[in-house]
Amino acid sequence: MNDRGSMGRTARLVADEAGLAEAATILQRGGLVAFPTETVYGLGADATNAEAVAGIYAAKERPSFNPLISHLESFEAAKVQGIFDETAQKLAETFWPGPLTLVVPVAPTCTISDLARAGLDSVGLRVPAHPLAHALLKATGRPVAAPSANRSGRVSPTDADHVLGDLDGRIDAVVDGGASDVGVESTIVACLGGTPRLLRPGGVPREAIEALIGQKLESGSEGGEKSPLAPGMLASHYAPRAQVRLNAADIMPGEAAMLFGPKMLPGSEQAKAQLNLSKNGDLKEAAAHLFSYLRQLDASGAHTIAVAPIPEMGLGEAINDRLRRAAAER
Ligand code: AMP
Ligand code: MG
Repeated sequence: MNDRGSMGRTARLVADEAGLAEAATILQRGGLVAFPTETVYGLGADATNAEAVAGIYAAKERPSFNPLISHLESFEAAKVQGIFDETAQKLAETFWPGPLTLVVPVAPTCTISDLARAGLDSVGLRVPAHPLAHALLKATGRPVAAPSANRSGRVSPTDADHVLGDLDGRIDAVVDGGASDVGVESTIVACLGGTPRLLRPGGVPREAIEALIGQKLESGSEGGEKSPLAPGMLASHYAPRAQVRLNAADIMPGEAAMLFGPKMLPGSEQAKAQLNLSKNGDLKEAAAHLFSYLRQLDASGAHTIAVAPIPEMGLGEAINDRLRRAAAER
């Protein structure tokens, strides 16, 4: 599990220049910092550092990986990460900074880790309006992935005391910026070609978006007939083409092998391809590698990816959840 529990208490940082500089340094070093936004307090990690992002899941005890919203300092910075069509551009120019998240196709220059994107070819981006969030992002100088700063299943925190109530000793610091004022989450709109889709209602009303773009938003998370989506774009989970075989005790000829821990599985030497999620059996390292290794093993052309047993503890729960979905999706 997360070793932060034994690291002692979480620092409560004063929201001044020195406090924000310290918070930025912690983020740049791969640590976890909760900070206020105009919606709720977010639990931030460097979005480009997959191990740091894995730390978010460990601290929250989230039992499954879903794509996280990456926060940026400006629309300019967001354009490095995602591709904005005409509608997305209009929405960004009108509602950013503010409580709107845009899900757009990944740009070739994207630096956001695939764990933060849950392996998808799309990316969720937002430029927050809160002055402290903005100052922190500017000082950090990279995209910051941040879901709400609460343990899984608890309510979203709107002040630093709520954050500490849930996460004290599990994260490095919280920037204390008082109460957040919207208290509801960001509206999420996917612009992936076709009609833009409302994935989650939130701080920016649907009507305001529809008035701006001159059309109704589609609803729900599935690509409907009227707005077909490229494979893997909106489907909420990345699915490999190959079959996935879990808890493999050995590797059959022609299979690709996803190993975990120091033990080789019998038959590995004849695998079509093999990668080890973590030779030391470190679940955080395994989580950081999960999506890119699934893709690489899928690309080997093997009909099946055989996966070594992964312990059902700590981050192992989210890793196994993801693998079970991949195994069931045939
Ligand atoms: P939160 O936990 O509040 O940060 O919520 C993140 C939300 O953004 C989840 O509902 C995600 O499914 C959604 N989201 C972020 N990125 C994407 C993406 N690339 N594709 C689809 N949904 C996304
Ligand atoms: Mg939440």
